[in-house]
Amino acid sequence: MNAKIPLHAVAGADPLADYRLTHEPFYRPAGNEIELYEQAYRHRMPLILKGPTGCGKTRFVERMAWALQRPLITLACNEDMTASDLVGRYLLDADGTAWHDGPLTMAVRYGGICYLDEVVEARQDTTVVIHPLTDARRVLPLDKKGEVVQAHPDFQLVVSYNPGYQSSAKDMKPSTRQRFAALEFDYPDASTEADIVAHEAGIDRARAQRLVALAHSTRELKNRGLDEGASTRMLIYAGLLMRDGVSPADSCDMTITLALTDDPDTTAALKKLVQAQF
Ligand code: ADP
Repeated sequence: MNAKIPLHAVAGADPLADYRLTHEPFYRPAGNEIELYEQAYRHRMPLILKGPTGCGKTRFVERMAWALQRPLITLACNEDMTASDLVGRYLLDADGTAWHDGPLTMAVRYGGICYLDEVVEARQDTTVVIHPLTDARRVLPLDKKGEVVQAHPDFQLVVSYNPGYQSSAKDMKPSTRQRFAALEFDYPDASTEADIVAHEAGIDRARAQRLVALAHSTRELKNRGLDEGASTRMLIYAGLLMRDGVSPADSCDMTITLALTDDPDTTAALKKLVQAQF
């Protein structure tokens, strides 16, 4: 029989079974990023996905993991994260202490794509563990366990990073970033973004277009009162409330205006932009 064995049929034998995507994520490409990713993956090149928050980086990596049939282990980075949270630790159990692989180690050992979301949020003494994985050695030293894990041939490291509003103190160190190839993301063009919002929120295209027009006017306020304009994600949230019958003004105030600013003047300006659209 030539039929491919369905992935779930071998789930018992697959330590990363929980991390496999079971259906195709909806993803609208903005350009040739799918082809470029495939080329980078052929060489297992570590990748940085650069771009503003909520513009589709995570959805893109999910789409790619699905297409390449690789498990995807995603970790949202934060400053309290330690190297042990990535690589693993000894934990007490009934028989004493036993080593538990962390999510990065699981991806390295069994051949997943490990996606470190907002990598600069993690402290540099934490992210330094990824260095030996991002050069020709492709190894992960587990110092506490006294083991050096050679990366599985399918393993790839992908990180995301928003160059827009990070302070230079939180920028990626050159010694880290030069180990990666990079793909740049931005909000999609207006028509594509309206399709995405209509699809994800389940609203008609006319209302999605108005939300996108609103987003464009907020994005013009970047560095003029706002650190960042409304993201595609925020428009989807607004659309979801509208779909459920919340008025457009309340929906947009909740998910866009009040989420973007605390400043009373900027709030008033954003509310006017909402009124202009709805
Ligand atoms: P990021 O990782 O850049 O912060 P996400 O990938 O989480 O952003 O995107 C936020 C949401 O916007 C996604 O959950 C998805 O619903 C939608 N989205 C953004 N861009 C796209 C796209 N190109 N195709 C499909 N959905 C998208």
